[in-house]
Amino acid sequence: MSYRIGVTASREWKDPVTIAISLASAVGIAIGSGQAAVTEDITVIVGRARGGDRMAEDIAVRMGCRIEPYPVTAEEWKRSRSAGFDRNSRMVASGADTWLAFIRDHSAGATDCRDKAAAAGMALCEYTETSAVMIDWELCDEIAAMGLDRDYGPPFEALYSGRCPCGGPWEPGDQIAWSADDDQFIHASCVS
Ligand SMILES: [Zn+2]
Repeated sequence: MSYRIGVTASREWKDPVTIAISLASAVGIAIGSGQAAVTEDITVIVGRARGGDRMAEDIAVRMGCRIEPYPVTAEEWKRSRSAGFDRNSRMVASGADTWLAFIRDHSAGATDCRDKAAAAGMALCEYTETSAVMIDWELCDEIAAMGLDRDYGPPFEALYSGRCPCGGPWEPGDQIAWSADDDQFIHASCVS
């Protein structure tokens, strides 16, 4: 009896709790549905890169799952700049019952692996993080009241007069975030 869970995660992924809950949920589904009897029947496929991959591997080991690692060696990185993408292809080709993706700021490697798992028709659970920073309107108003907004210059004008990439304007009080991805302010609800 064997149940396989694939995991891809960004190197900058910050939140191990989301990974732990997601893995526990996948393990619970495997055992609850009778596709695995114990956690030792479950294999977790990981890329063993730093950051999210390592978090997932550590958590899976603690849960008692088997690990099937697909590390990219320094030698392989030297030979090909697409070594990480090739590794993703091998991981997905190895086959899995479900795939978990933890993607921060649309990072290329984890996004590529998610796309390949989706194209292979695997059940996919996707989680995202963003480095977008929330704007504190009260603080902005205080800065403006002190006349400091002129010193802050264009970013401040953009905050008060700008528009979100979705096309919508905003009013003070809206939840606004600074998106490093878009290099501009966006609605918090438009943060992907
Ligand atoms: Zn928007």
